[in-house]
Amino acid sequence: MKRVIGKINPEDRHVTIWGAGFAGLILGYYLKDQGYRITIYERSNKVGGKIQTKRTSGGFIERGPNALYLNADSLDLLKELKLEPLPATKKLKRLLMYNGRPRRPIQLGLISKVSMNAHKKPPLITDGLTVAEFFKPLLGQENLHRYLSPVLAGIYAAPSESLHFKTIFDQVGNKAQFESYWDFIKMMFKLQKTEPKLELSGSVSFEGGMQTLVNRLAEVLKSEIKLNYKEPFRIKGNTIICTDAASASELVKELRPEMSSELARIRYQELTSVTVFLKREIKSLQRSFGVLIPFETGFNSIGVINNKAIFPSNNENIISYTLISRKKLSDEDIYQDLKSLSNEFVPDDVEHMETSHWDKALPLYDLQRFLSVKKMHQIAYKEDNLAIFGNYVAGISLREMITAARTFSSNPQNYTENP
Ligand SMILES: Cc1cc2nc3c(=O)[nH]c(=O)nc-3n(C[C@H](O)[C@H](O)[C@H](O)COP(=O)(O)OP(=O)(O)OC[C@H]3O[C@@H](n4cnc5c(N)ncnc54)[C@H](O)[C@@H]3O)c2cc1C
Repeated sequence: MKRVIGKINPEDRHVTIWGAGFAGLILGYYLKDQGYRITIYERSNKVGGKIQTKRTSGGFIERGPNALYLNADSLDLLKELKLEPLPATKKLKRLLMYNGRPRRPIQLGLISKVSMNAHKKPPLITDGLTVAEFFKPLLGQENLHRYLSPVLAGIYAAPSESLHFKTIFDQVGNKAQFESYWDFIKMMFKLQKTEPKLELSGSVSFEGGMQTLVNRLAEVLKSEIKLNYKEPFRIKGNTIICTDAASASELVKELRPEMSSELARIRYQELTSVTVFLKREIKSLQRSFGVLIPFETGFNSIGVINNKAIFPSNNENIISYTLISRKKLSDEDIYQDLKSLSNEFVPDDVEHMETSHWDKALPLYDLQRFLSVKKMHQIAYKEDNLAIFGNYVAGISLREMITAARTFSSNPQNYTENP
């Protein structure tokens, strides 16, 4: 169900989009490409929403996403936009915090646990099943928290206990029962093999950071974007709402109350991202992407990104790390995490530091979101010219949003049957 909610009328060649975050821009781009005339209303004074690169005297700071993980659609998009991708350094270590130190994640203990339990029958895949419930018999509680939870938290910023299995592993489709975990693992490998081989893979950014991608989309859509737009919402002709769920709920409160209450049920995780420019490197993170940190390990952050190692040319004369946390961080909290990563750290090592806090950073991909989105597909099916899109609808990552927007724009009537 990772697709745009609702449909538009292809006979009407004008589309109004509310919100010029990545969702609004990418959908506007693809619809324009299909020959629609587009108008985008953005409440704030800038485009891009959560995607914001700031140039400081110290260097670049990514307040939101630091990279686009490529799939076939996003690679095509970059070619169409004539954007030169800046690939992340290959062969960097992926580290997990374990026993107070960043380490390589695959441990003998984990491998033997998986091979010991892989013959077991996983739980039945129901609508209510969480990721933790599915994997617990395979990994055990301790490994779940030590390995799987931090990896998923690196994308969804939520513990595996609240993540909705059918959404996170949507490749499983309608399958309700695997005979054993081996069957599940085999299916995952098989699906991975069927993915097209790309001439460029992995994470990319751009010279000038992620803002370059947003600016390029805005350039294509330029005259169609109205910033600082505060007029009341209306549904006049084809209308697509591309804001966050809470704002969307407010927009449709009067006109579509049933839709509004489903939108209001979608919960969000707050996040803080802190970029620190240091005078010296953190040795334990050398030649790594950074480190993922399990919950409840005494750290204030859930991950630290090693910006200089990943995109050296965007961080030429600086040493820069970004800490991501599920709560607001004081300077003391930040120093405490840096000290835990490097005994040698002293606050004087910090050249420059900048904090961004998002109250509603990421939607929770939990059961409630699944149920509300399902209900909204049913409500929207009865509408002719109203659609809803955003990172709470069809995937949290930019690449999933690119795929969903491209698919929708090539068939904006969307539904072939009652959802
Ligand atoms: C810290 C962080 C790191 C991330 N890292 C990555 C990463 O590395 N890779 C990746 O793929 N993804 C990453 N993500 C996820 C990705 O950035 C988001 O999913 C995506 O940018 C969300 O886009 P959006 O358009 O759905 O929402 P938003 O960016 O929130 O945009 C919504 C827009 O709607 C506007 N709006 C709100 N109300 C109204 C209204 N009433 N009228 C008009 N306009 C309105 C807002 O001003 C805003 O411009 C990260 C997210 C965060 C927060």
